[in-house]
Amino acid sequence: MPNIGAHVSTAGGLWKAVENARAIGATCIQIFGASPRQWVARLPSKIEIKKFKDALGESGIHSVYLHASYLVNLASANKDIFEKSVKNLTAHLSVAEEIGAEGVIFHPGSAKGHAERKTALDQEARAMREVIKNVPGHAKLFMENTAGGGQKIGGVEDIAYLFLQVKSSRVQVCVDTAHALEEGMIDEYVPQKIKKFADAWDGAVGIKNIPVLHMNDSKTVAGSHHDRHENIGEGHIGRKGFECLAKEKRFRDKDWILEVPGFEGQGPDKKNIDILKFLG
Ligand SMILES: [Zn+2]
Repeated sequence: MPNIGAHVSTAGGLWKAVENARAIGATCIQIFGASPRQWVARLPSKIEIKKFKDALGESGIHSVYLHASYLVNLASANKDIFEKSVKNLTAHLSVAEEIGAEGVIFHPGSAKGHAERKTALDQEARAMREVIKNVPGHAKLFMENTAGGGQKIGGVEDIAYLFLQVKSSRVQVCVDTAHALEEGMIDEYVPQKIKKFADAWDGAVGIKNIPVLHMNDSKTVAGSHHDRHENIGEGHIGRKGFECLAKEKRFRDKDWILEVPGFEGQGPDKKNIDILKFLG
């Protein structure tokens, strides 16, 4: 059985995420360890960390993931942005280590400004190694596939390349169902195509290196390169698509995390979780 959960708010303190998760019946969570729209990352205090761990202890939540800042681009050709990215991702990974989270899920960025894509990917691989070295411990970096388009990095080939280059037990992958559709890797979640989809990920990094999936429906069509999440069943993957996906054994014993707008527009809610629980 999958663990089904969601991205939850930490407004008011890290431990609030645990309350928010329990209110919607989540058994795994994703949070921002620091502001997602600022370069400066404020680290939580010792008291804040203790309150979070205490709340988590009795919550029935099995795993915690952090999502990185949206500003981070380890492949940036701009030296200033590159250096800030390494520093910021390092800070987020430190928070993950401190609070005992699985690690940080991040978007691999963009190769814009590089004459060759390979130069950007190699720079990114070196930077990932550096970030891991900066934070001794167990917390991992999870590369997330993206909606692609232009010189964006984050298709299955890019991720396979980076995975092989970095070669660290602290690097794994998060597969986002909406991004995969938007990128065009899969254009319809039907059994035959889902099988190929799972084969492709297995071949790229090994299914065991994908402990977590972002389960989102997509507001935009296959191949749109437009990253817009939708509630389960209300987008272009559709309820039937998730029903088929939930039957793929290789994706079942994973953490399924929702990053959807919510039926009330207040973020991931109990209704989306209940739909996945029903399918899972
Ligand atoms: Zn995602």
